[in-house]
Amino acid sequence: MASVTINNVRKSYGHFEVLHGVSIDVPDGEFVILVGPSGCGKSTLLRMIAGLEEITDGEMLIGASVVNDVAPKERDIAMVFQSYALYPHLTVGANMGFSLKLAKAPKDEIRRRVGDAAQILGLTHLLDRYPRNLSGGQRQRVAMGRAIVRQPQVFLFDEPLSNLDAKLRVQMRSEIKQLHQRLKTTTIYVTHDQIEAMTMADRIVVMRDGYVEQIGTPLELYDRPANLFVAGFIGSPGMNFIRGQVSPDDPSVFRTETGASLPLPEGITLPRARDLIYGIRPEHLSMKQDGVEATITLIEPTGAETQVTALLGETPIIASLRDRLAVTTGDRVTFGIDIAAIHIFDAETETRLTTG
Ligand code: ADP
Ligand code: MG
Repeated sequence: MASVTINNVRKSYGHFEVLHGVSIDVPDGEFVILVGPSGCGKSTLLRMIAGLEEITDGEMLIGASVVNDVAPKERDIAMVFQSYALYPHLTVGANMGFSLKLAKAPKDEIRRRVGDAAQILGLTHLLDRYPRNLSGGQRQRVAMGRAIVRQPQVFLFDEPLSNLDAKLRVQMRSEIKQLHQRLKTTTIYVTHDQIEAMTMADRIVVMRDGYVEQIGTPLELYDRPANLFVAGFIGSPGMNFIRGQVSPDDPSVFRTETGASLPLPEGITLPRARDLIYGIRPEHLSMKQDGVEATITLIEPTGAETQVTALLGETPIIASLRDRLAVTTGDRVTFGIDIAAIHIFDAETETRLTTG
């Protein structure tokens, strides 16, 4: 196993730069997830770690060695893609052992390592089957098995669960996480799905447009997002954002663009006469006797909780409420705000001004 160090790495295709100086330190044994919208450069970065794309500028290290000019097969990494790319004419066992056979490993060693990997992944009874006779989840597992038998320094995953249905995705999520807890191999995993990132990662790297926006543990990003983008990207339903300014008459009041008053915590200093954004997560709103007035436009029960969309002035806000509700669309209600849980962002720079 090994650490991965990415130092100010850039990637250009011709004159078009898609990664603008990315630095990430992945300690030995960590499970790091790169997350961000489609096109932000996740796969490009992963392919650069694998050696499948040239590094335009900067430095990439696996362990203590700079690998910028090291060929993919010399890097001792294993990659699992969204398309499993199994050999259709080979059995599960032969697919899993293929790379070892190519490396001319002794037959019993191949058999032993394939057997071990199959056991870890619950594939032992399927070793003689062909890929066409497997379900999507089983194929996914074979693709992982193929990576495991190589006992690489680093696992790289690129959206490996995207082709699975929702239920299987949830199951594979916990399987991959347990697999990592067992093998403790350094893992870098790419997804556009923030829930996947939150549930699986030791640390998350949030990317946008070829830049790293923030690196942190799932709950650090959730509780202390560095900026508006991270605040909106992590969490579902997303954080509510309401534009306004600190009231000129009262520093404990946030005056929204449509004239509503929202509470501000005591003891924070915010710039006056400057456009700000008030952020509050759906679970930090509750239905209270006194609070902020809003008109319900949509009610979505999920069972465990109900998501209520309401208009605060002209801004739609969402509340996640655990209580069973006796309200309907069109009702005028009041929401209490958990004042300790609010965030304030600068509307222009988009950075978070509150520090709690
Ligand atoms: P992600 O995996 O986050 O969806 P990618 O890493 O695939 O994003 O792509 C990042 C950017 O690089 C995109 O704008 C994409 O169009 C561009 N890109 C990727 N591969 C190439 C290529 N071979 N030539 C030119 N542009 C590319
Ligand atoms: Mg991609």
